[in-house]
Amino acid sequence: GSTIGILGGGQLGRMLSVAASRLGFKTCIFEPGGDCPASHVANYHLQASYDDRDALAKFGEAVDVITYEFENIPASALDQLEALCEVRPNRRALTVSQDRLTEKAFLQDIGLKVAPFMGVSSLDDMHKAVAQIGAPSILKTRTLGYDGKGQARLRSPDDAADAFAAMKGAEAVLEGFVDFSCEISVIGARAADGQVACFDPGENVHRDGILHTTTVPASVSAALRTDAVLIAGRVLNALDYVGVLGVELFVTPSGLIVNEIAPRVHNSGHWTQNGCLIDQFEQHIRAVAGWPLGDGGRHADVVMENLIGADMDRIGDLSADPNVGLHLYGKADAKAGRKMGHINRISPKG
Ligand code: ATP
Ligand code: MG
Ligand code: MG
Repeated sequence: GSTIGILGGGQLGRMLSVAASRLGFKTCIFEPGGDCPASHVANYHLQASYDDRDALAKFGEAVDVITYEFENIPASALDQLEALCEVRPNRRALTVSQDRLTEKAFLQDIGLKVAPFMGVSSLDDMHKAVAQIGAPSILKTRTLGYDGKGQARLRSPDDAADAFAAMKGAEAVLEGFVDFSCEISVIGARAADGQVACFDPGENVHRDGILHTTTVPASVSAALRTDAVLIAGRVLNALDYVGVLGVELFVTPSGLIVNEIAPRVHNSGHWTQNGCLIDQFEQHIRAVAGWPLGDGGRHADVVMENLIGADMDRIGDLSADPNVGLHLYGKADAKAGRKMGHINRISPKG
């Protein structure tokens, strides 16, 4: 059988590896860390850093297609890998989503609504951006932010200097605060032949900047659910994308506003593991392997809840609950704020 190369060895890489092996593929992960969640389940673990050219060459030659579980792959590593092996999703999807400013400009260019935004590289820029966008607003680092890290909220224009200082010199983008009624996300997939399929939109609740729950169905109108799916389709087609993509959206009285996209399987798509015949991980593997997409129709109502840090104390009770699908990542220490696993609580489709 052929071998799927996965850049990144976290829980997403782990669940991609499981899905791949269920379809008869071998997996090889490339991950600088040693004892990581994906290393317990992948066939091979190439433990090396992204500037190790020999290791990258070995990886690119050993696998038949390369995919990834995170978007911050260094450009130099990609240059080298792309010359050896097909990388799916493609380079453009990565470049666009590695940088919030590029991403917002792209989304706007393809006709989607985003929050008002302006790039901020200096304190002078910051004052100009606040004059333009006002407050409340959020300053975010352009690169490397996740789980709400690298963000500073401005309650009034007076917070400008403090927010700028909080970026510690990193390039940033100021975004107007969106007064949303709820947040939803769509997990979409596109096959190599251009076929597109989306899972039902889920409704997301965050706690301390980290995704807490995703609920399907989302409590929004059928029209908005359709809009959300069409937005995901537009992004997938514009990027000539192959694989699974997550699109985070704000629901507002004037329609949907795109928050951000992620060129990979997404935490808010974990509900598909117990709500669909074909989950997001298998869908991604199918797409990158050049297979047809599977049927991601939803057969149950699901509430996905992340298990973070001390939530692991509840495992005893959760494992005895007949309506709970338990997914643990095999991480050793349950540090505060660390994603240790998730549950999918299912009920009959309403
Ligand atoms: P993720 O872990 O999803 O990648 P992130 O660090 O990239 O998170 P964002 O998704 O940009 O962060 O923001 C985290 C959360 O903060 C959002 O889901 C939303 O609840 C809130 N938020 C972000 N931007 C805005 C905005 N412009 N207006 C209102 N709320 C916002
Ligand atoms: Mg993000
Ligand atoms: Mg987000």
